[in-house]
Amino acid sequence: MERILGFLVLTFALATCGQADRDISGEMIKAPTLTAQERNTLAKVQFGAARTPTQGASQAIGGYAKGCLAGAEQLAQTGPTWQAMRLSRGRNWAHPETIDFVKKLSRFAATQDGWQGLYVGDMAQPRGGPMLTGHRSHQTGLGVDIWMLPPKRLNLTENERENISSISMRRNAGAFTNSKWTQQHMNILRAAAKDPRTARIFVFPGAKVAMCNAEKGDRSYLRKIRPWWGHHYHFHVRLECPKGSPNCISQDAPPRGDGCADAQDWVNNILNPPPPDPNAPPPRKRRELTLTDLPAQCTTVLRGG
Ligand SMILES: [Zn+2]
Repeated sequence: MERILGFLVLTFALATCGQADRDISGEMIKAPTLTAQERNTLAKVQFGAARTPTQGASQAIGGYAKGCLAGAEQLAQTGPTWQAMRLSRGRNWAHPETIDFVKKLSRFAATQDGWQGLYVGDMAQPRGGPMLTGHRSHQTGLGVDIWMLPPKRLNLTENERENISSISMRRNAGAFTNSKWTQQHMNILRAAAKDPRTARIFVFPGAKVAMCNAEKGDRSYLRKIRPWWGHHYHFHVRLECPKGSPNCISQDAPPRGDGCADAQDWVNNILNPPPPDPNAPPPRKRRELTLTDLPAQCTTVLRGG
């Protein structure tokens, strides 16, 4: 009983205060206002309150945007070639395969002119699952946000890591890269996409087209670079379901080819928006996930030790 009460108190505290948060660029996010019923039923409240991982084998469970994570590993706050950012969010947890991916990519980044390594943004919560602020995915410990800001130093204090912002790479609402975009950004994105564990990388359309136009060598990795909204302060890497996660649900592979024509279409639509479709249905409001929306194993993960 005590444990349940403690959990509820913690849940309540988290749901009602301290939710003024910053996104990856440092912009303030408004705290969600939740009813008592929502506090008791919404998966994001319950997973958002978990502060420790479960013990035992690491498993990604469910889908990227409807799942959870058992046996999460924490990325060290500072390593030889990385720093985790926004430590107060408690999102430097992931599947060990993702941790390994980040370390490997950061070692590559450190070979690039002007880059000491990587500033690593949100990964997952200690038990994965939906979050109170930001991100629909990042639930199974297979996603990571990498800042576009080249790390000049890797001795940022905790306070600096809360307050420094990344930098935007876009111009014309994402149709083009701006002057901050460099060959090194492209090299790091290419290295990330070429890792066989990578399923997709999300970045703004102008960056994808810039890479399509600049690539003179092997283009096959471009298939994994997917244009998406936002993603100009950071790019998002999504890994394939790892071995030993039988309940992990992967996604269809991206369409065949390098995807460059589609990305160019997207850019053209940014520059010359088509007239609105009068027959388009009104956007549906997405329903918030409850525990029963997630795989049953996620309830075990949430309650487990
Ligand atoms: Zn992300």
